[in-house]
Amino acid sequence: MRQFRIADFGLRIRLSSFQSAIHNPHSAIGALALLVLVAATAPGRAQQWPVNSLDRPRPPVVDPGPDRPPAAPPSDAIVLFDGTSLAAWQSPDGTPAKWLVRDGSVEVAPGTGPLVTKRAFGDLQLHLEWAAPTPPAGEGQERGNSGVFLMTHYEIQVLDGYHNDTYADGAAAAVYGQTPPLVNACRPPGQWQTYDIVFHRPRFAPDGAVRDSARVTVLHNGVLVQDNTVITGWTVHAERARYRPHADRLPLLLQDHGNRVRYRGIWIRELSGP
Ligand code: MG
Repeated sequence: MRQFRIADFGLRIRLSSFQSAIHNPHSAIGALALLVLVAATAPGRAQQWPVNSLDRPRPPVVDPGPDRPPAAPPSDAIVLFDGTSLAAWQSPDGTPAKWLVRDGSVEVAPGTGPLVTKRAFGDLQLHLEWAAPTPPAGEGQERGNSGVFLMTHYEIQVLDGYHNDTYADGAAAAVYGQTPPLVNACRPPGQWQTYDIVFHRPRFAPDGAVRDSARVTVLHNGVLVQDNTVITGWTVHAERARYRPHADRLPLLLQDHGNRVRYRGIWIRELSGP
């Protein structure tokens, strides 16, 4: 039996039935096939609005409660930053990491570029904590902007979203340019915020076609904000995302967007998968 898969819908159907059903649209399977066709061509949640649309509704605000001291990582975690050392990190060109480590956190050094991990990762559970600069400066995307780029290419936005309006798909914990968070769970600038992320990488066929889209679940300050969200492609600015094939493991990247965002408590658990 031949099967094919529509990556973003997770549907598997028998190709032969599908083809015959198209030729006989009055049959039950024909109705199903037409439904599948409609589903396959209908836009997904991430596709309903133009990229960075200012008309898109903003996520409702939820108060996640006060910040807390960092929790110790679990015993099988790969600790990427323990508050003292950037040994697990480097600049993308392979030179030493240039951000500033002090008082148990690492701060973006504007203009020095992103940090990338020396190790590469595929499917993962990631915990990190971040704090936006205080007092806040700038507006919209220019206030406390950084980003967690999974596999170097898929950004979970970091932004001071506390009383700071911006387009919905650029909010804190958005899959940038694609899917806004379910709610805005930001704490005020200066307070520590947590991201807990479960990420499943995309799978590519040998010819480079997308077999399975990447998916991501994110809790922001303990609040669910991305629920197994389909990632529609590489993070790009102001244009529709699309996939380009890449390796099964790639470094994690933290973005330098010119704002002095701080990070601490960064650890990963690798998830086994094909
Ligand atoms: Mg960003």
